[in-house]
Amino acid sequence: MIDSHCHLNLSQFDTDLSVILVRMQEKGVRQAIVVGVDGKSSERALKLAAKYDNLFAACGFHPTEIQTKTWSQDLLLLERQVLSTDCVAVGEVGLDFSNEHNLSVDEQLNYLKNQIDVAKKLNKPVIFHLRRANDAFIEFAKSGHLPKKAVVHCFEGDHSFLKRILDFGLMVSLSGLITYPKNQFIREAAAFLPHDRAMIETDSPFLAPGNLRGTRNDPTGAIYVATELAKLWQTSLDHVDKITTINSMKFFNLPDII
Ligand SMILES: [Zn+2]
Repeated sequence: MIDSHCHLNLSQFDTDLSVILVRMQEKGVRQAIVVGVDGKSSERALKLAAKYDNLFAACGFHPTEIQTKTWSQDLLLLERQVLSTDCVAVGEVGLDFSNEHNLSVDEQLNYLKNQIDVAKKLNKPVIFHLRRANDAFIEFAKSGHLPKKAVVHCFEGDHSFLKRILDFGLMVSLSGLITYPKNQFIREAAAFLPHDRAMIETDSPFLAPGNLRGTRNDPTGAIYVATELAKLWQTSLDHVDKITTINSMKFFNLPDII
């Protein structure tokens, strides 16, 4: 199994990362993409990817972490980071219309385009973060700015939104959100997700699955997500494990572990 999106680069893992890495191997979560949200966390993701064979970095500026004042330098830093051989994707980047920041819609769209341009130039896939921004994202996609290869991480939408993003050729990464009782609409969508478009993620330390909600999540939480998906697809956990591993391997161009 591959955790397509986690934040082992954040301080929540400072004291026991080595324990987590051992537990991952024991539980069969063999690789993970460590995702940056700003310059510093992207740098840390690169360091971890350089140190551990089974970790890979994604570098990017999350929409709530962007500082307008330093953006031109930050964009240059991003380009340097994405050039690193340890970087397998640009992300997480996207649109966030929750109340956590003060960028305008136009600014967010502009910074998103800037980062997609880096991905296009350096031929890397993109990881999208969308929060309360599904409709705006469809409009953005229609305008023709999407990169060739991209994934919507932590999918949070209904069946009709899913169909629309599939039409744009996007991959979809499912998280612990599909294990929460209130999210029947996401489960209904996930049931229809074509198997060759699916990835599994934890977004750890966030979004601990099912009964673990509220505790610190880690990449082994991917197993709960895969188990739920197996139920929705009416198939075996083994099948979900295999197909999503192949999908993530191809998408991020990872070493073959099948
Ligand atoms: Zn994330």
